[in-house]
Amino acid sequence: MGFSIETRCQHLADDNSTNHHYGAISFPIYQTATFAHPAVGQSTGFDYSRLQNPTREHLEKVVASLEKGIDALAFSSGMAAIATLMEIFRPGDHIIADSDLYGGSIRLFDNISKKNGIEFSSVDCYKEDVEQFIKENTRAVFIETPTNPMMNVTDIAKLSEITKKHNILLIVDNTFLSPYFQNPLGLGADVVVHSGTKFLGGHNDTIAGFLVTSREDISEKLRFIIKTTGAGLAPFDSWLILRGIKTLAVRMERAQENAMKLAKWLEKQEKVKRVIYPGLSSHPGHEIMKKQARGFGSMLTFEVESKEFALSILKNVKLIQFAESLGGTETLITYPITQTHADVPKDVLAKNGITDCVLRVSVGIESADDLIDDLERVFAL
Ligand SMILES: *Cc1c(COP(=O)(O)O)cnc(C)c1O
Repeated sequence: MGFSIETRCQHLADDNSTNHHYGAISFPIYQTATFAHPAVGQSTGFDYSRLQNPTREHLEKVVASLEKGIDALAFSSGMAAIATLMEIFRPGDHIIADSDLYGGSIRLFDNISKKNGIEFSSVDCYKEDVEQFIKENTRAVFIETPTNPMMNVTDIAKLSEITKKHNILLIVDNTFLSPYFQNPLGLGADVVVHSGTKFLGGHNDTIAGFLVTSREDISEKLRFIIKTTGAGLAPFDSWLILRGIKTLAVRMERAQENAMKLAKWLEKQEKVKRVIYPGLSSHPGHEIMKKQARGFGSMLTFEVESKEFALSILKNVKLIQFAESLGGTETLITYPITQTHADVPKDVLAKNGITDCVLRVSVGIESADDLIDDLERVFAL
């Protein structure tokens, strides 16, 4: 843990694994389903790849180090990670879930976790007193900060005082900032969730997910579930995420720089009613972000004057691509109301301000001038 995060993206502090592989600089892909046993009752440390595979294990060590957890588990998607996490709860348990979450998380909770007997309360954790929603059967609070897509910022340390007092888990989906900008475990969270598909992978080429924890008991439970239900990340995909992480620091810095330039340009446009980017001092969560994160990330949301104009932007951008997902090197624009949040109940959308005039941008690492030129052309149509 002595190395800074830029270095930890390249090297594990206690890593001597490269010595075992002919000095290979790139960690090998162990494309094998099973492992030979030296003798009865003996193991090389690996038995069967559903349980663990060396490439996945190496990736998990890297991600645990980046998030400063005692353990990280790599899954075949962010949703597989969250679905696995839900297995630590029992029928009758109650979870407080932030009301502005990734649409897929809300879909999972509403359609699968509820069916399994878990009860949810949807709460605006960034502004409400969360303590008043805690019941006898409450087991966890699940948040994102900043939220998707409205960029609401919750004070993680403050919330963790409440969850610790009531002995319940604080789960933080840290996808939007990545461990490069924010480490929720250090602020009192018990479990960190990542869609590794996003900034960790960083190239829009692999689906992956992570759970990272600071607690031995939770790590033990999750290890049992991953080997039993089998949603672990495949060796080749593990390698792709490892490769993505090598450039995490430089990608995050450059994308953030571009996001700020784009946010400032959008703020000056008459057809833009509102720019929601936590890096702007006008953002209500700006000061909390300065306290709990090392940066503001590269996700920004803006609201335009009409639905027609929103649709025209989506139709006419060229360099910027109209696609779901985020966190890659390419700039993508999405329409939350029909895409990421299509399955979110209408009243929740309305309450969160996700209207048909709201667009979300995942700013990439292209030239900011070219990105602005693309928008300037569309705005002038
Ligand atoms: C994409 C995303 C997920 C789901 O991850 P997948 O890898 O797509 O399964 C969860 N949370 C957030 C914040 C996301 O952006």
